[in-house]
Amino acid sequence: MSKKRVTSGMRPTGSMHLGNLLGALDNWVRLQDEYECFFFIVDWHALTTPGGGDAVGYENLGDLRNRVREIAIDWVSAGLDPDKCSIFIQSHVPEVAELHLLFSMITPLGWLERNPAYKDMVQSYKIESPSYGLLGYPTLQAADILIYKGDFVPVGKDQVAHVNMTRDLGQRFNSLYGKKVFPITEALLTEVPRVPGLDGIENKMSKSSGNYIALSDSAEDTTKKIRTMFTDPVKIRKDDPGHPDGCVVYAFHDIYNVGELETIRKECESGARGCVSCKMELAEKMNNKLEPVRARREELVANPGMISEILRAGAVKAEGIARETLKEVREVMNLPARESLDV
Ligand code: SF4
Repeated sequence: MSKKRVTSGMRPTGSMHLGNLLGALDNWVRLQDEYECFFFIVDWHALTTPGGGDAVGYENLGDLRNRVREIAIDWVSAGLDPDKCSIFIQSHVPEVAELHLLFSMITPLGWLERNPAYKDMVQSYKIESPSYGLLGYPTLQAADILIYKGDFVPVGKDQVAHVNMTRDLGQRFNSLYGKKVFPITEALLTEVPRVPGLDGIENKMSKSSGNYIALSDSAEDTTKKIRTMFTDPVKIRKDDPGHPDGCVVYAFHDIYNVGELETIRKECESGARGCVSCKMELAEKMNNKLEPVRARREELVANPGMISEILRAGAVKAEGIARETLKEVREVMNLPARESLDV
């Protein structure tokens, strides 16, 4: 029996950090063994917002090309294996744009206007005059997924609505034209650890907040950043009793040093452990775990042709499937065949 398909994309925000690794990439690495996976960098989606500051967008193209490559490098460094999954750039499969156009003909405007994520984006990016592309991005997202007939999209609970819109659009197409061209796409909910920022347990690790450890950081950079991590503010001296639950260092021990967690808690609470040595122990554990990621990264950076070839091969495979889907779509929509033009 053929494997079910998983599709997922990521915006080219620049190099990835531990929040991305633990929140999405580790999960993708597991999924590639069980599903036929299509992972793509959504460069067109980056152009739906104006950009500004560190964010790229249609008014601020910045180093978009370089960011796309950096993300691909991070994905492969994190363990995505081009022999097990397809890794490519969204715009390298132009058939997606045609499907987006055709979907836009059948997408009720009310679906897009009621999309809460659209309103959030307009507010959070302070966009005065939102573009047609931004309003219609769920239609592009549906084309991204359905062109590969994606059965599942791995998402967190807060993103299930996006997948539902894709599912509804696929079903609308099938029902309008009386043929089951698209599968019923479902969200693949995954439990992921909450990754705090370096500056506080309540803050989320993010590129825009600058409170992150990048996959491209060296072991020395990582150790330096761990030294700055927020700890229990009332634990001033080594033998002061501490409160691990509010401490970022403890939260990372919970990810990278689980076997020692109970001991760390007891020693912290009793004042037998100091924050400096606690941080150094975390640095050692984290750096050991990240060592293979850094080694793969170094190899890819030293051989630029490797990542180009991975992206090329991924796009070729994805485009083959995309062409088949579009052929079916054109047929059921009664669009004139273009075989005579395909030389
Ligand atoms: S000893 Fe460790 S767990 Fe306790 S407050 Fe300091 S850094 Fe956090």
